[in-house]
Amino acid sequence: MEKIAVIGAGLVGSLGAIYLAKRGFDVSIYERRPDMRKTTLSAGRSINLALSDRGWKALDGVGVSEEIREIAIPMYGRMMHGLDGQLTFQAYGKENQAIYSVSRGELNAKLMSCAEENGVKIEFNKRCLDIDLETNRMEFQDEILGETLLVSADRVLATDGAFSAVRSKYQLQDRFNYSQYYIKHGYKELVIPANLDGTHKLDKHALHIWPRGEFMLIALANLDGSFTCTLFFPFEGENSFESLKTEQQVLKFFNEVFPDAVPLMPTLVEDYFSNPTSSLITVKCEPWNYKDKSLLLGDAAHAIVPFFGQGMNSGFEDCTVLNEIMNQESDWDVIFNRFSSERKKDGDAIADLALQNFIEMRDLVGNKDYLLRKKIEKKIYEKYPNL
Ligand code: FAD
Repeated sequence: MEKIAVIGAGLVGSLGAIYLAKRGFDVSIYERRPDMRKTTLSAGRSINLALSDRGWKALDGVGVSEEIREIAIPMYGRMMHGLDGQLTFQAYGKENQAIYSVSRGELNAKLMSCAEENGVKIEFNKRCLDIDLETNRMEFQDEILGETLLVSADRVLATDGAFSAVRSKYQLQDRFNYSQYYIKHGYKELVIPANLDGTHKLDKHALHIWPRGEFMLIALANLDGSFTCTLFFPFEGENSFESLKTEQQVLKFFNEVFPDAVPLMPTLVEDYFSNPTSSLITVKCEPWNYKDKSLLLGDAAHAIVPFFGQGMNSGFEDCTVLNEIMNQESDWDVIFNRFSSERKKDGDAIADLALQNFIEMRDLVGNKDYLLRKKIEKKIYEKYPNL
């Protein structure tokens, strides 16, 4: 039986492995971190994510969407919070159309368990250090024992994220194109806890946005009644992570720009200083495959900024597209080449749209002309839903 190694048991690697196992391959995932189902999540990546149609379709394809729906909260539109505390709701689509707030950890854990149920082996604490692209011989470091492990596989799926170790080997190849771009904003997660009775302090069925021009705060509901808030803020400048150094500065600033949010955030100052500030990168590269040997998928191929909420969704869609190509082709060379050439333009498109949507979210959603344009778009869509 053909042996496939998947590098990284994140969202895309776990789902991709299920697809491959269901096709009858011998699939092993190598993940550098410990098993998240047995440890507590460390701060860093987002706590919750917006799951949309592309993502659901990919989950449907392996029959896990019902289970995920149990942990998903529908968000039917954006709720904009004005400086004066005024709320404006903007529906995402027609009645009952929604994107869904899902816990990253729970989603990932469920996908890992589903992968194992389908016969996938997951090797935790195994960091990929090196890969020989010609032979698919890989070197892993056991993060607990410090030992080196050598593994070979017929095919390799690199789903090791935005800073992919496998992709770094591609970068040494002739005619491999690569670019990376950091925006000048970073992000920090904060929290709005639940009410004492476990209910939400804001409407849980909306994605809350405090658009403030150069920066913004957003909040997505969690199942436990809390909201995870994310502050997208410049690293440097007049109003920036660099400029808010003391507790007084943080409180003064938040009271000025997010006055209705502050009373909901009792641990604001503590969270602000203890949670990490993380950067946001766009990665574009091509080709996404090395011959018929290995393929980059998810963030490893196309890391994007989160403003369209489509990073995971498009990574999940990678799994759908790869599976569709595998329904038509059996030669790995054709499968990998087709995937790379057909999918690359979509990766570039969503990367550019995500960058543009930051301006829309942080600025335009509070602008009257923009809101009018959205109303006109909605009318046109109602008249011509298939165009
Ligand atoms: P990852 O989730 O990064 O997983 C990679 C895995 O590989 C990890 O488990 C990692 O430990 C492992 N790994 C890394 N290096 C190695 C190595 N050398 N050896 C072995 N294992 C390794 N997307 C959405 O669709 N909706 C959203 O609302 C959304 N919100 C976001 C908010 C923020 C703040 C951020 C930063 C991102 C957001 N995204 C969102 C994007 C989403 O998080 C990513 O697109 C998604 O996680 C990509 O999944 P992945 O499996 O490709 O990579």
